[in-house]
Order: sequence, then structure tokens, then C-alpha cells
Amino acid sequence: MIKPPFTDDVLLHYISASAADESADLFAAAREVQEKYYGKRVYFRALIEFTNYCENDCYYCGIRKSNGKLKRYRLCMDDILECCREGAALGYKTFVLQGGEDPYFNDERMIEIITAIRRAYPDHAITLSIGERGRASYEAFFAAGANRYLLRHETACDDHYRKLHPPRMSLTERKQCLYDLKNAGYQVGAGFMTGSPFQKPEHLLADLRFLEELQPQMVGIGPFIPQADTPFGGFPAGDLELSLRMIALTRLLLPDALIPATTALGTVSPQGRERGLAAGANVVMPNLSPKSTRRLYALYDNKICIEDAAAECRFCMENRVRSFGFEADMSRGS
Ligand code: SAM
Repeated sequence: MIKPPFTDDVLLHYISASAADESADLFAAAREVQEKYYGKRVYFRALIEFTNYCENDCYYCGIRKSNGKLKRYRLCMDDILECCREGAALGYKTFVLQGGEDPYFNDERMIEIITAIRRAYPDHAITLSIGERGRASYEAFFAAGANRYLLRHETACDDHYRKLHPPRMSLTERKQCLYDLKNAGYQVGAGFMTGSPFQKPEHLLADLRFLEELQPQMVGIGPFIPQADTPFGGFPAGDLELSLRMIALTRLLLPDALIPATTALGTVSPQGRERGLAAGANVVMPNLSPKSTRRLYALYDNKICIEDAAAECRFCMENRVRSFGFEADMSRGS
């Protein structure tokens, strides 16, 4: 039986595993743990991508500041509330507000939005994913009614972090934000891309060790996918199998974590998200953003689900989940 504690050598062995049967054993072990903690339940979260303006210039990301080819958009308060209304009608109990680091959405505007959603939906979870802010801002958003925060650490090694980001960004600050969020009372999500440029197995080992240290409630893992108008546009996409192995190892190390089967998994392979569930993931995040802006949230090329309406995404995902023997769970699932 594959179970922790794992030495570094054992983790590196599974990170680099090339034999299909070894991966199959790993996925089976992860599924067993997932089943023990969550049964066959897969939690549904509604994703609202509310701005593609970004102050940051991450080398991998299509909405980076220097991408002059991207048409920019932001949703106004009414648009965001309309997304929530539609999401609530479709049965969602969690709204995930994700966006670039957009200075227009300063603390005051964010507090206004969070307060309005909280007032209209007192029982729903509000998840934010809007990047690095100061501790006081995180505390103010929490006081206004936000409950969860997704902030991938991206890579837990300084040297690798510097290869993915411009000099003004630092891993130390990123990690500090994650600890600030935890201390402010949020359920926190960290995470990383697999197969990002210059990534080595040792970096992924450090990612797992960092997750063990941070003990986040949520972990987002997905393959890097190139976006043509970024400095990394010429690099190959990350391999699906590696993402799946990292999901499985994360499930074994953090048995009760909420781990999404990400859109990036579904972009690199038609059944990537379903395979993610079979490797230990237990959350899906169908898109609730308006159809008119969806293709503009272009983190990477060939992103899936940009033509579907919110209801289509919801029911398509439910069918996919069911066809793999799982149950859609629309509860808050904290
Ligand atoms: N600005 C917020 C932040 O930095 O956390 C949220 C938005 S950011 C675009 C969300 C995530 O998208 C990042 O954490 C990153 O891991 C992922 N991402 C960005 N570019 C990507 C790419 N080319 N391939 C795969 N994932 C990517």
C-alpha cells in the first residue's frame, strides 16, 4: 500500500514514475483515501472571471500586463450580481471571484462587491482569487463576508520562482500572503502548475513539502499550457500524467484537501478533468462568467468551455462527473 510518511526519494520516485502500472497503483491509493474522506462526492463551485486587467507580468500568463494583444474587460457590480443570481438559480453554493491583479478593484470596491453578495446570499461561500494584497486588505475582505481564498504559490523554490516571474515578484511575499490569509481566518488554497518551463522533479518535491507545511484546505494543480503572446509561448504544455501523479500525491499527503479537477486538465486532454477525479481530485469549477467575456480570460491557448452558457457548463460537468461514477454535490462543502 502506498501511504505516507514518504521519504524524499520515494516522492521523487513517484513524481518521475514512467511505468503506467506504477501510476495506476498511485491513483488507486489516492482514490481509496478520497473515498474514505469524501465518498463519491464531487463539489461544484461557480467560477466568475470578473477582470482580465493585471498589474503583474508573470511570464507564463496570457493576461499579463505586457500582453498588448489582449482586449481587456472588467465586469461591473451589476454584472457580477447577475452571475451570482444565475449561479444560485443553478444550485451553486459557492461563488469564486477570480481576476487579474486589477488596481481598479481596490479594497473599497472589493468590499462593496463582497458585502453586496453576502447580503443577497447569506448562506453561500464567497471565494476570492485576486492575488497578492496586504494583510489588512485580506482582513477587511474577510470581515465583509469572504470565506475562502485561492492563491497558488506557483513553485516553492526561489530559483524556479524567479524564472517564472519578473524581479519585482518574490516567493517570500507569495508565501507571506498565504500565511496572512490563514491567520485572517480564510480557508486557503495554494497550488502550482506542472510542466512549467525549467521545472525539475526537485521543484515538485519542494511543492509537496510546502503543502505539508502550510496545510491548506484547497490545492489547485494543473498543467502549464503555453499562451502564444507571452514569453513562454514557445514552451511545450505540461504532461497530463504528471499533473495526475501530483494530484494523487497531494491527496495522499493532505487526505481531506479540496482538490479541483482544473480546466487546464480538460484543455490538455478531452477527459483530463475526469481523470483528475479518478486520481484524487474532488472539486470542479464550472464557468459562470458571461459568454461575451469568457474568451478574453485567456490565461493560455485553446482553453475549453468558452462557448458554453452557464447552465450548459453546469449540466455538462454533472454528466461528466456521473459518467465516471461520482456524484455531483452542490453543497458548500467546506
Ligand atoms: N491573479 C490571481 C493570482 O495570481 O492568484 C488569480 C488569477 S491567476 C491568472 C490564476 C492561476 O492561473 C495562476 O495561479 C496560474 O497558476 C494559472 N495560470 C496562469 N497562466 C497559466 C498557463 N499559461 N497555464 C496554466 N495555468 C496558468
